[in-house]
Amino acid sequence: MDRFIDVESLIGLAREASAVKGDCGCLRYDLVGWGSWPVGLYEDSFIKIGTLAKYSPEDAIIEEYHPHGTTYWSPEAPIAPRYYPYNQSTLWQCGKCARLYLRHNDDGAYHVAPRIRRVQYGLVINAPHHSDGREVRAVAH
Ligand SMILES: [Zn+2]
Repeated sequence: MDRFIDVESLIGLAREASAVKGDCGCLRYDLVGWGSWPVGLYEDSFIKIGTLAKYSPEDAIIEEYHPHGTTYWSPEAPIAPRYYPYNQSTLWQCGKCARLYLRHNDDGAYHVAPRIRRVQYGLVINAPHHSDGREVRAVAH
């Protein structure tokens, strides 16, 4: 079972990671916004820290948070852990430099695409959701 990381913890970890200086192999890839898993990047270069997922994929909202006109792919899109896809992401750190990365699987119709995005401290935002990120389903009668 992955350790659940709440928003405050993520902000704290992101602040620590933002102090990391120096070059690293993980910076060779453009992962400021979400990207497909890059060829040449190795799974075992990362250490899992925990998960931002409070609810299972079936129960979590699929709403995204873009108050300033960003999209899923935008490099400046907010990292709002109660919203998709962050509410289904796991948190990892580079084994060499300790920079933080988020990963999630984008479930397409025919295949699952692994995505990765570098955590930028200034973009992590504690944006509330009226349901706390849990989908409220209509009760069938
Ligand atoms: Zn690194």
